[in-house]
Amino acid sequence: MGRNVTRLLLVDDDAGVLLTLEEVLKLEGFRVTTVSTGEDALAAIAREAPFDVILTDLRIQSTDGVTVLSAAHERDPSTVCIVLTGFASMESAIQALRHGASNYLLKPCNLDELKLTIRRGLERKRLSEALHDRVLDLEAANETIRAFSGQLEERVRAATAELAGRVQEAQESRRTLSAIIDSMSDGLLVYDDRGRVVLSNAYVRALFQMPEGFRGQTVKQVMDVTGEPPLEISQPDIDNVTHRDIRAAEFSTPGASPRDVRRVVSRVAAEDGTEIGLVVVYQDITERREVEKLKDDFLSIASHELKTPLTSILGYTQLLLRRSASDMAPSGGDFLRVIEAQSQRMKRLVDDLLDVSRIERRSLNVSRVPVDVVALAEEVVRGMKPTNPSHAFVVSVPSAPLLVLGDPDRLQQVIANLLSNAVKYSPDGGEVRVAVHNEGNDAAVEVRDEGIGIPADQLPHIFSRFFQAAPSVRSRRFGGMGLGLYISKGIIDELGGQLEAESTVGLGSCFRFTLPRYSISAP
Ligand code: ADP
Repeated sequence: MGRNVTRLLLVDDDAGVLLTLEEVLKLEGFRVTTVSTGEDALAAIAREAPFDVILTDLRIQSTDGVTVLSAAHERDPSTVCIVLTGFASMESAIQALRHGASNYLLKPCNLDELKLTIRRGLERKRLSEALHDRVLDLEAANETIRAFSGQLEERVRAATAELAGRVQEAQESRRTLSAIIDSMSDGLLVYDDRGRVVLSNAYVRALFQMPEGFRGQTVKQVMDVTGEPPLEISQPDIDNVTHRDIRAAEFSTPGASPRDVRRVVSRVAAEDGTEIGLVVVYQDITERREVEKLKDDFLSIASHELKTPLTSILGYTQLLLRRSASDMAPSGGDFLRVIEAQSQRMKRLVDDLLDVSRIERRSLNVSRVPVDVVALAEEVVRGMKPTNPSHAFVVSVPSAPLLVLGDPDRLQQVIANLLSNAVKYSPDGGEVRVAVHNEGNDAAVEVRDEGIGIPADQLPHIFSRFFQAAPSVRSRRFGGMGLGLYISKGIIDELGGQLEAESTVGLGSCFRFTLPRYSISAP
């Protein structure tokens, strides 16, 4: 409770005044200490806890009111000092106010005015104490802020240093990356998701003679320089979804010294699968093309040159064979038959090589006349049966002819090749089925065997030039050059048809081609 009681020192040498005021103020709830001399007042101020209010006359015994005020103010600047005097003068009032008095009342004073003055003084004291507390709080907060800002500066400094390190690392890895892509022997362009070039390497700049690079260019601008076909086709469908078909391509660069270039495109996808760019790689295939052309030329010339002497060897052998056996030594006829058979085989090989070079040069020159594939298939089977007794040939054909527009010799060559493969790759014999049937607007010819089959990973390659499945094992065992299917496909393609294969290792294979059916009524 003591802390909340307002303590008041009353200084006056008039015992009557002291008594009256003491009583009045006590009734107001103040704890009042009364002294009648300046000395006692100074002693009370020095001895006791600071008073909340000092009410003093200016003229008192042994010392004056101003001295008392100074002492009280010194003891506690927040003490409310009110001067009471009977001798009003401006000078004494100013002096009192200078020494810390908060108010000045004239004796005899109105008690209500006195009480009001004390209350105001106390209110001011309370406010100034509160203000003081706020100031202290603010100073404490300032101190905390200063401490924080010190820490913050330290952190900012550390973060800046780390950032500088990272920037340097990033610059170094960027330098390494560009050194790597610049040392590539393929051209590289990287597009961002807006279709603008963000990266190009030294090779691509040299290949397309663009020393200033492609940075920032659009797909269209790049195409104008490189001469490449469109990179992607955007086609909104009915749902307004755009489907993009990115194209790999081979093309020649424009200009006085064109280069042959192969382009490979891949999408760059973010972790969530969205496309964030495209990577385009350009390979200069000019030299490879030249070498391929030289090879094709060699193939063509060599097979032509081989064919001429071979034709005459074969011709003369057959001529000799037709002569009477009596003209020759006993084994002469056998020798001639061997020579003829081997020459025929060699002729087939040379013919195959010639066909390959024709397909490569796109000069196969097939004729197009109505051909009955039913009769053709039956004829080929008839020719094969006698020489392959361990195979059962099953033919399933429609009763009526099935016409296509094609080259009879070439079609026979295809069917013969498929059949001889069926026989060759079913070394343990078995059934060889040949089926011909109508299939919509097409005629389909199917050759099915129960032979060794083709491994799934090799199936896509069997129509390639010189390809033989697992060649080290097979070629020696089965012979051949891996050209039959390539040529067959070349012929069927040329006639506008399709040749396909299905196969299961150990169970057998099925080759089938389709060609558009020819009807007499067709124009
Ligand atoms: P070749 O028979 O002269 O090797 P082909 O072009 O006719 O050349 O055939 C290519 C390859 O396809 C063969 O080497 C063989 O591995 C495989 N092949 C073709 N036909 C069959 C078949 N009916 N059964 C199993 N493999 C086959």
